[in-house]
Amino acid sequence: MTSCVFCSIISGDIPSKKIYEDEHTYAFFDISQVTKGHTLVVPKHHHKNLFELPESEVSHVFKTVQKVATALNKTFSPAGLNLVNNNGEAAGQTVFHYHVHLIPRYDQADGYQAKWVEHGAEYTEEKLEQMQTQLISSLSSSH
Ligand code: 5GP
Ligand code: ZN
Repeated sequence: MTSCVFCSIISGDIPSKKIYEDEHTYAFFDISQVTKGHTLVVPKHHHKNLFELPESEVSHVFKTVQKVATALNKTFSPAGLNLVNNNGEAAGQTVFHYHVHLIPRYDQADGYQAKWVEHGAEYTEEKLEQMQTQLISSLSSSH
Protein backbone atom coordinates (compact mmCIF):
# COMPACT_ATOMS: atom_id res chain seq x y z
CA MET A 1 0.00 0.00 0.00
CA THR A 2 1.29 3.48 -0.88
CA SER A 3 1.73 6.08 1.84
CA CYS A 4 -0.56 8.49 -0.01
CA VAL A 5 -4.15 8.16 1.19
CA PHE A 6 -5.62 9.32 -2.14
CA CYS A 7 -3.43 6.94 -4.19
CA SER A 8 -4.72 4.18 -1.88
CA ILE A 9 -8.32 5.30 -2.45
CA ILE A 10 -7.80 5.34 -6.25
CA SER A 11 -6.30 1.83 -6.19
CA GLY A 12 -9.13 0.58 -3.97
CA ASP A 13 -6.87 -0.28 -1.02
CA ILE A 14 -8.82 2.23 1.06
CA PRO A 15 -12.60 2.24 0.50
CA SER A 16 -14.32 5.42 -0.64
CA LYS A 17 -17.74 6.57 -1.75
CA LYS A 18 -16.92 6.93 -5.45
CA ILE A 19 -19.05 9.31 -7.48
CA TYR A 20 -17.26 9.25 -10.83
CA GLU A 21 -14.16 7.82 -12.46
CA ASP A 22 -12.59 8.09 -15.90
CA GLU A 23 -9.16 7.39 -17.39
CA HIS A 24 -7.55 10.42 -15.75
CA THR A 25 -9.62 11.38 -12.71
CA TYR A 26 -11.47 10.04 -9.68
CA ALA A 27 -14.20 11.76 -7.64
CA PHE A 28 -15.41 10.68 -4.19
CA PHE A 29 -17.12 12.05 -1.09
CA ASP A 30 -14.84 13.81 1.35
CA ILE A 31 -15.06 11.92 4.62
CA SER A 32 -15.57 15.21 6.50
CA GLN A 33 -18.79 16.19 4.60
CA VAL A 34 -18.33 19.85 5.52
CA THR A 35 -21.64 20.32 3.71
CA LYS A 36 -23.98 17.71 2.22
CA GLY A 37 -22.35 16.28 -0.90
CA HIS A 38 -18.82 17.64 -0.23
CA THR A 39 -16.78 15.89 -2.95
CA LEU A 40 -13.11 15.68 -3.91
CA VAL A 41 -11.85 15.46 -7.49
CA VAL A 42 -8.30 14.14 -7.93
CA PRO A 43 -6.06 13.24 -10.86
CA LYS A 44 -5.25 9.51 -10.84
CA HIS A 45 -1.55 10.23 -11.07
CA HIS A 46 0.15 11.48 -7.91
CA HIS A 47 1.08 15.17 -8.08
CA LYS A 48 1.63 17.09 -4.88
CA ASN A 49 -0.09 20.37 -5.64
CA LEU A 50 -1.06 22.86 -8.34
CA PHE A 51 2.56 23.85 -8.92
CA GLU A 52 3.50 20.25 -9.75
CA LEU A 53 0.38 19.40 -11.76
CA PRO A 54 1.35 18.91 -15.43
CA GLU A 55 -0.51 21.23 -17.79
CA SER A 56 -2.04 18.22 -19.55
CA GLU A 57 -3.79 17.18 -16.30
CA VAL A 58 -5.45 20.55 -15.73
CA SER A 59 -8.15 20.14 -18.35
CA HIS A 60 -8.86 16.56 -17.26
CA VAL A 61 -9.30 17.61 -13.64
CA PHE A 62 -11.49 20.62 -14.41
CA LYS A 63 -13.62 18.72 -16.88
CA THR A 64 -14.48 16.31 -14.05
CA VAL A 65 -14.92 19.18 -11.58
CA GLN A 66 -17.54 20.73 -13.87
CA LYS A 67 -19.26 17.40 -14.51
CA VAL A 68 -19.55 16.53 -10.81
CA ALA A 69 -20.48 20.10 -9.80
CA THR A 70 -23.33 19.97 -12.31
CA ALA A 71 -24.51 16.64 -10.87
CA LEU A 72 -24.33 17.99 -7.28
CA ASN A 73 -26.31 21.03 -8.35
CA LYS A 74 -28.98 18.95 -10.03
CA THR A 75 -29.21 16.35 -7.24
CA PHE A 76 -29.06 18.36 -4.03
CA SER A 77 -30.22 21.78 -5.34
CA PRO A 78 -27.74 23.81 -3.26
CA ALA A 79 -28.00 27.60 -3.27
CA GLY A 80 -24.39 27.79 -4.52
CA LEU A 81 -21.13 25.85 -4.69
CA ASN A 82 -17.55 26.70 -3.69
CA LEU A 83 -14.46 25.22 -5.32
CA VAL A 84 -11.55 25.09 -2.87
CA ASN A 85 -7.99 24.01 -3.59
CA ASN A 86 -5.43 24.24 -0.80
CA ASN A 87 -1.80 24.25 -1.97
CA GLY A 88 0.81 23.88 0.76
CA GLU A 89 0.54 23.43 4.49
CA ALA A 90 0.25 27.19 5.05
CA ALA A 91 -2.82 27.19 2.82
CA GLY A 92 -4.44 24.36 4.77
CA GLN A 93 -3.39 21.40 2.63
CA THR A 94 -3.28 18.18 4.66
CA VAL A 95 -3.22 15.55 1.91
CA PHE A 96 -0.40 16.11 -0.54
CA HIS A 97 -2.03 14.63 -3.63
CA TYR A 98 -3.60 17.40 -5.72
CA HIS A 99 -7.35 17.72 -5.17
CA VAL A 100 -10.21 20.13 -5.64
CA HIS A 101 -12.97 20.36 -3.03
CA LEU A 102 -16.51 20.77 -4.35
CA ILE A 103 -18.54 22.25 -1.52
CA PRO A 104 -22.25 22.69 -2.19
CA ARG A 105 -23.61 25.70 -0.28
CA TYR A 106 -26.99 25.77 1.39
CA ASP A 107 -26.82 28.81 3.67
CA GLN A 108 -24.39 30.93 5.71
CA ALA A 109 -24.41 28.42 8.59
CA ASP A 110 -23.99 25.26 6.52
CA GLY A 111 -20.50 24.30 7.74
CA TYR A 112 -18.25 26.13 5.28
CA GLN A 113 -16.78 29.54 5.96
CA ALA A 114 -14.07 31.55 4.23
CA LYS A 115 -12.99 34.82 5.79
CA TRP A 116 -11.88 37.58 3.41
CA VAL A 117 -10.21 40.59 4.96
CA GLU A 118 -9.75 43.46 2.50
CA HIS A 119 -6.33 45.13 2.43
CA GLY A 120 -6.76 47.16 -0.75
CA ALA A 121 -6.20 50.42 1.12
CA GLU A 122 -2.63 49.33 1.98
CA TYR A 123 -1.58 49.13 -1.68
CA THR A 124 -0.80 52.35 -3.56
CA GLU A 125 -1.11 52.57 -7.35
CA GLU A 126 2.68 52.56 -7.49
CA LYS A 127 2.98 49.42 -5.36
CA LEU A 128 0.34 47.62 -7.45
CA GLU A 129 2.09 48.60 -10.68
CA GLN A 130 5.42 47.34 -9.33
CA MET A 131 3.81 44.00 -8.42
CA GLN A 132 2.12 43.88 -11.83
CA THR A 133 5.49 44.38 -13.58
CA GLN A 134 7.13 41.65 -11.46
CA LEU A 135 4.40 39.13 -12.21
CA ILE A 136 4.20 39.89 -15.93
CA SER A 137 7.95 39.48 -16.11
CA SER A 138 7.73 36.07 -14.36
CA LEU A 139 5.00 35.00 -16.77
CA SER A 140 6.99 35.96 -19.87
CA SER A 141 10.08 34.07 -18.70
CA SER A 142 8.18 30.91 -17.67
CA HIS A 143 7.75 29.38 -21.14
P1 5GP B 1 -6.95 19.35 2.31
O1 5GP B 1 -6.99 19.79 3.75
O2 5GP B 1 -5.64 18.71 1.96
O3 5GP B 1 -7.36 20.42 1.33
O4 5GP B 1 -8.09 18.27 2.19
C1 5GP B 1 -7.91 16.92 2.49
C2 5GP B 1 -9.29 16.33 2.65
O5 5GP B 1 -9.18 14.92 2.56
C3 5GP B 1 -9.96 16.64 3.99
O6 5GP B 1 -11.13 17.42 3.79
C4 5GP B 1 -10.27 15.26 4.58
O7 5GP B 1 -11.53 15.19 5.19
C5 5GP B 1 -10.18 14.36 3.36
N1 5GP B 1 -9.75 13.00 3.69
C6 5GP B 1 -8.63 12.66 4.38
N2 5GP B 1 -8.54 11.32 4.48
C7 5GP B 1 -9.62 10.81 3.82
C8 5GP B 1 -10.08 9.48 3.58
O8 5GP B 1 -9.49 8.48 4.00
N3 5GP B 1 -11.24 9.34 2.85
C9 5GP B 1 -11.93 10.44 2.39
N4 5GP B 1 -13.04 10.19 1.68
N5 5GP B 1 -11.51 11.70 2.60
C10 5GP B 1 -10.39 11.89 3.31
ZN1 ZN C 1 -1.20 10.13 -4.21
